[in-house]
Amino acid sequence: MKDTQPNTRHLDAIIVGAGLSGMYQLLSLRDKLGMNVKVFEAAAGVGGTWHHNRYPGARCDSESHSYMFYFSKELVQSWEWTERYPQQPEIQRYMDHVADFFNLRPDMVFNTRVNAADYDEASKLWRVHTSDGQSWSATYLITAVGCLSSANVPAIEGLDSFQGQWAHTSAWPAEGIDFKGKRVGVVGTGSTGIQAIPVIAAQAGHLTVFQRTANYSIPARNAPLTEEFKHYVKENAEDIRQLMNETTNAHCFRIDPRSALEVSEQERNAVYEAAWAKGGLQFRATFGDLLKDKTANDTAAEFIKTKIRQVVKDPQTAALLSDIDHPFAAKRPPIDSHYFETFNRDNVSLVDIRSHPIERITAAGIQTTQAQYDLDVIVFATGFDAMTGSLLRMNISGRQGLPLKDAWAAGPRTYLGLQIPQFPNMFTITGPGSPSVLCNLPPQIEQHVNWITACIAYMRDNGISQIEADEQASDDWVQQVNEAANATLLPQAHHSWYLGANVPGKPRVFMPYAGGFARYRGICDEVAASQYRGFHLHR
Ligand code: NAP
Repeated sequence: MKDTQPNTRHLDAIIVGAGLSGMYQLLSLRDKLGMNVKVFEAAAGVGGTWHHNRYPGARCDSESHSYMFYFSKELVQSWEWTERYPQQPEIQRYMDHVADFFNLRPDMVFNTRVNAADYDEASKLWRVHTSDGQSWSATYLITAVGCLSSANVPAIEGLDSFQGQWAHTSAWPAEGIDFKGKRVGVVGTGSTGIQAIPVIAAQAGHLTVFQRTANYSIPARNAPLTEEFKHYVKENAEDIRQLMNETTNAHCFRIDPRSALEVSEQERNAVYEAAWAKGGLQFRATFGDLLKDKTANDTAAEFIKTKIRQVVKDPQTAALLSDIDHPFAAKRPPIDSHYFETFNRDNVSLVDIRSHPIERITAAGIQTTQAQYDLDVIVFATGFDAMTGSLLRMNISGRQGLPLKDAWAAGPRTYLGLQIPQFPNMFTITGPGSPSVLCNLPPQIEQHVNWITACIAYMRDNGISQIEADEQASDDWVQQVNEAANATLLPQAHHSWYLGANVPGKPRVFMPYAGGFARYRGICDEVAASQYRGFHLHR
């Protein structure tokens, strides 16, 4: 239906976000379906989370040949990564390359935030208001806002009074931060802190790491790619794509189906040693039951803790770093370049803020319940209001003005992580309830975008004007998401952002679907093949 409101421009679809998902969704709707589409993006360019996460050491922890699109043979042939794990500037170059390769920028509006989106039931249109004061209407609203894009800056008393410089890693100043000779504090030891800490330590006068929860980390063993490997990727693109689609986590490796407990201790340790030497997330694929059986998991956890104690020379620091309170990989396991070795440097110290929490930030630095630490720079590597933060901040309202924040007061409720009941014709790429963050994201994004595009094509071909997730189907899906999580050790990491536990006041709901990417793809395909079972379709 065309819009008749004055000063409102009509589009077939509005996409929010110009990361990988927004780019591929634009390409699919514009070039495959011939639709009139715009992407709104708050940043000045494409790249999504990678546009903002420019902190020192920022690097992908998926291997580069899995962190790319495979939907276009020509695109695959046009690109070569240089390292096993690409750094942020190279990923940003890839994003720019995708945008240029498919001439996407003319349909993108940068430096423009979506301030509100309301569903108008009479016209069956989304009304979208952007930060440049414009109003738009669209048949479809597609959120491509990423899972990790709303910074979680802790509300610590006194931050405003700090006389030095501070930054959150995901909103890194464009001009960078000069750490040379400075007293630097890093708060947070998740994937981000673990990447940033060795790089900052190499520049700072003194680095103090404030650790609340000790973390496992596996060496990345990053290295330049050989010409032979680059050639292999181009020659075997279809096999690589198929492998990722068949696996639990959409990576380029399979999980060994054996139990860690069915082999001898000697063999198990040999497997772990080999995986440690090879490096990377494959460590968690060494045995099939690491995320299902606590006793099996304990063997991997103990192996890593022993490694930490071997690497870190100061026994007290080693004890703090290896005193880990959750099963291995129950939180997203970081991979690192010399993280634990960094604590052997003379200019690095570790402060335990689990026993002695941060009390306040003062003009001079950080004060814990035990001591004052004078600092010139504070870096918050404190993560994200993950999966729901960016969606909730957009002021989206569905039928009868229902705000998304009310619809999700008890936690996110979706059908397949793709749609929300009461929010017709709105799709959420990698939304809560999809495997998303438990997977390597580019294959998951391809799958979601292909599904949404096929769904919209089906609607068009069958004269359907509206699709909406059924309430009961959504409740059943939430139940399946819970069951899938409870069949693993993942919920045993009580402070995890998978559960929303890192943001005060956020409902504790396990958000991603832990049943595996391959199984999830099958469910989505079957729903589409059954003329969209669990959705209401209206002409
Ligand atoms: P994170 O995993 O949520 O870690 C945040 C860290 O900050 C934790 O150590 C947390 O401690 C600490 N923290 C949070 N609030 C705090 C507070 N108020 N006081 C003291 N400490 C506090 O965040 P992240 O490291 O940014 O990683 C998030 C996700 O981003 C990763 O799991 C990964 O999926 C993704 N990531 C990916 C890459 C990549 O290479 N592709 C790189 C970086 C990040 P607690 O554990 O005690 O809460």
